[in-house]
Amino acid sequence: MKSDYTVAIVGAGPYGLSLANHLSSQGTSFIIFGKTFDLWRKHTFDTMNLRSDYATSELSHPNDRYRFSHYCSDTGISVNDISGQLPVSVFRNYIDWCLARIPFSVNNQMIINIKHGNSGFSIQTEKGDKILVQKVVLATGIAHQLYIPEIFLAHPGTLHSYRTAEIQKINAKKVLVVGSGQSAAESIFVLLKNKNQVEWYTRTAPVYFSEPLNLPRWLFNYIIRLPQFFRNVDPIILKRTLGLFSSTTITPDLMSVVKNVPHHYGLPDMDKYDVIISATGYQYQMNDLKFLSAALKAGIRQWNQYPVVSHRFESSTPGLFFSGAITEPFFGPSMKFMIGAPYSASVIARAIK
Ligand SMILES: Cc1cc2nc3c(=O)[nH]c(=O)nc-3n(C[C@H](O)[C@H](O)[C@H](O)COP(=O)(O)OP(=O)(O)OC[C@H]3O[C@@H](n4cnc5c(N)ncnc54)[C@H](O)[C@@H]3O)c2cc1C
Repeated sequence: MKSDYTVAIVGAGPYGLSLANHLSSQGTSFIIFGKTFDLWRKHTFDTMNLRSDYATSELSHPNDRYRFSHYCSDTGISVNDISGQLPVSVFRNYIDWCLARIPFSVNNQMIINIKHGNSGFSIQTEKGDKILVQKVVLATGIAHQLYIPEIFLAHPGTLHSYRTAEIQKINAKKVLVVGSGQSAAESIFVLLKNKNQVEWYTRTAPVYFSEPLNLPRWLFNYIIRLPQFFRNVDPIILKRTLGLFSSTTITPDLMSVVKNVPHHYGLPDMDKYDVIISATGYQYQMNDLKFLSAALKAGIRQWNQYPVVSHRFESSTPGLFFSGAITEPFFGPSMKFMIGAPYSASVIARAIK
């Protein structure tokens, strides 16, 4: 049977859209699915500053069409004004500017099933459309990978910190925030603004309470731009050292507020709280990608539940590629941030050509 497109990109975040730019400019036929920049529009607090700076938060294009500096000169913003912390409101405006210029459209449907057959991949959308393609690139980010430790799942009021819309609606409740990272601090800030009584539980001291543990920004940006280097590091060693690459951008305002919240290093009695916010991060496991058929999943070689990918980001099922955070054990920490998207997009586009 004839394919409808050469490639289907599943995911319309920075990784999926960057790849689409590369495929579009090399003339490869493709379709892209997903909610555009979903994480950045719906799952980040309006009060947040990005962890990355503007130069490492761009949509990739082979001819550098979507540089932040172009956006600034187009809209009259001074680059100097955003050269420190990048507020999410500015980033969202930059995204809209990019989306108004991309020369292709995004199909906003979610994919509910992908099967592999003799003539390629059959993809089914949530509305029942079926499409046949030769290759699939998964760029589904973190939405399927929310991690909540079992102990907190037992509480009826537990929410992952990814659910920012729900968190912003919590009002006048007794809330326990769990986790020592930036998402915990941002959740606390918003919860306090909404007159909640907030307490905080972490097993270890929050990272930004001990500044020296954070690498300086220039060193962080330099090291994580080396996916080819990380490709040669054993995934076990890589996973153990990844903690070094956590970066936080806690403003003094945020810091002064969260520092005064009652803090527990031992787990308090959870029954005292109406809501538990589990700011406990993400766990990248292929089994959580429910839209892959069981037969397809069974055929993909795995390492610790991650799909093993080649130097071209291709899995052991020919024609099925992975991108973004799920490739971190093989390409290093840049894959968890937008800074990794240009490398991933250009390599996958070349592999598909
Ligand atoms: C709170 C928070 C703050 C962060 N801050 C930064 C930062 O400042 N700088 C930085 O570089 N990184 C940051 N990150 C990391 C961030 O995840 C990545 O930078 C980036 O968004 C990852 O891009 P992505 O395209 O891989 O995935 P995402 O941005 O998560 O996009 C995933 C896409 O896949 C789509 N999708 C998912 N499932 C399906 C399906 N079944 N069918 C169709 N489409 C689907 C979604 O709709 C979406 O379009 C942050 C993450 C979080 C959670």
